[in-house]
Amino acid sequence: MAIDVVIAGSGPAGLATAAAFAERGARVRVLGGNDRPWAPGYGVWADRFEALGWGAFLGPVWRDAEVVLADGETRRLGRRYARVAKRRMRSHLFDRLDALGVELVWRHAGSVSHRPQGSVVTDEHGDTHAAAVVIDATGHRPALARRVGEPSLFQAAYGQAGIADHTWSDDVMTFMDLRTDHVQDALGPQAPTFLYVKPMGGARVFVEETSLVRGPAVPFSVLRARLAARLDRLGVVFRAVDDTELCLIPMDAPLPDLDQRVLATGGAASLVHPATGYQLSRALALAPALAEGVLDGLGTGTDPAHVVRDAWRVVWPDEALRRRELLLFGARLLATLSAADQRAFFRSFFDIPGALWRAYLSDDGSLADTIRAMAALLCVADARTRWHLVRSGPRLPAVLARVAGGGA
Ligand SMILES: Cc1cc2nc3c(=O)[nH]c(=O)nc-3n(C[C@H](O)[C@H](O)[C@H](O)COP(=O)(O)OP(=O)(O)OC[C@H]3O[C@@H](n4cnc5c(N)ncnc54)[C@H](O)[C@@H]3O)c2cc1C
Repeated sequence: MAIDVVIAGSGPAGLATAAAFAERGARVRVLGGNDRPWAPGYGVWADRFEALGWGAFLGPVWRDAEVVLADGETRRLGRRYARVAKRRMRSHLFDRLDALGVELVWRHAGSVSHRPQGSVVTDEHGDTHAAAVVIDATGHRPALARRVGEPSLFQAAYGQAGIADHTWSDDVMTFMDLRTDHVQDALGPQAPTFLYVKPMGGARVFVEETSLVRGPAVPFSVLRARLAARLDRLGVVFRAVDDTELCLIPMDAPLPDLDQRVLATGGAASLVHPATGYQLSRALALAPALAEGVLDGLGTGTDPAHVVRDAWRVVWPDEALRRRELLLFGARLLATLSAADQRAFFRSFFDIPGALWRAYLSDDGSLADTIRAMAALLCVADARTRWHLVRSGPRLPAVLARVAGGGA
C-alpha cells in the first residue's frame, strides 16, 4: 500500500508527528534510527504542556520556579514547572503508533531523492521508502533536510542527579541561580553560568550548571568544575550520583531552506527557542497543524511539491520568522554579557509585566507581545542594560522597527 508520509527520527518530534498524521488517517512509516531511550531530562512550563493535551505525561510538578539574583534577592516567577515523564510518554507514543498501524523501521535514513509524485528515502541498508511527503525529525544535525551554515551559539550544561544533603524546598524549583561567587577558573566571570535545580523529593535532587548562550560553547569540564565549586559554596554534599546529563543545544541554528522538498520538525527545523533552548512544546504544538496542512493538500490532489512548500509556512509562518529575529537579537546580546551584566539584565527582565516576560519565554508567544516585552525592557532597564540594548551590534530600536514593519 502506498505510504503518505515517511518520517525520519524517533525523538519526541518524530513520534508525536507520526501520531498526528496517523490519527488523521494517513499511512505512515517511521525510520527510527536507533531504538534508544530519549536522553534529555525535559523540563517544561506545566500550564503550556497541559494546554497542549500532554498533561498526562508530566512527572514531578513544582508549584513555582524561582530566580536567584544575589544573596537575599530571589524572584518567584509564579508559574508551575514540570519534568516530563519521558519514558512513559515514549512508550505511550509507541503503543499509539502500533494501534494506528504505523510502520516502525529501526534503520537510519541515508539520503532522499524526489520525483513528481513524491520522494524516496534510501536507508542505511540501501532499501528505499517512497512516500508523497518526507519529514526530517532527526534532531539538531538533520540527516535529510538542508540548512546552510552552522550554529555559532550554544547552550551547554553539566547536570547530575542523586542523593544529597540539601535545603532546597521540594515544591519550588530553581530556574536560575545567577550567583557566580564560586567562579575562579580561567574563563572567569566573562563566561557566566547559572545553577538549575529540580528537587525530586527528600534527599533526591537534580542540579545542573548551565551556560545559557555562548559561542563557542563553554566546555563540559569547566561546567563540571564550576558545579562542584558551587555545591561546595552552598554546602550541598552529594552522597551518591546515579545519573549525569551533558547538554549541548544550538541556539542560533540556521533556518532550514523553506523551499526544499523535504519537510522538517523539531531540532531539524531549528525550532529551538533562542532565549531558553527549549523546543519540545513547540514541536508538539506543531504536529497536528502540520498533519492537517499536509493531508488537506494531498486530499485535494495538490502535487506533493506544492503541498510541502505550503507546509513549510506552517512550520515557519512569517510572524514566527520575525519573532525569531527579535529572540536572536536577545540571545546574541546575552552571549556577550559578563556575569554581572547578565544579572542586571535578568533583574530588569523580570521587572517587566509577567504576561510579557512569559510571552517572551514561551514557544507560542505572539510577535506583538514579544515586541512589547522588548519595549518594556527598554523602559524599565537600569542604565547599563539599556546601554547594552541600544548600543550593541544591531541596536534594539532598529530591530524592533524592522520586525514590527515586517521587513525581516
Ligand atoms: C541534554 C538536553 C536537554 C534538553 N532539555 C530540554 C528541555 O528541558 N526542554 C526542552 O523543551 N528542550 C530541551 N532540549 C532541546 C530539545 O527539545 C531536544 O534536543 C529534543 O530532544 C529535540 O527533539 P527532536 O525530536 O527534534 O530530536 P531528538 O530528540 O534529537 O531525536 C532525533 C531522533 O532521530 C534519530 N536519528 C538520528 N539520525 C537519524 C537518521 N539518519 N535516520 C533516522 N533517525 C535518526 C535519533 O536516534 C533520535 O531518535 C534539550 C536538549 C538536550 C541535548
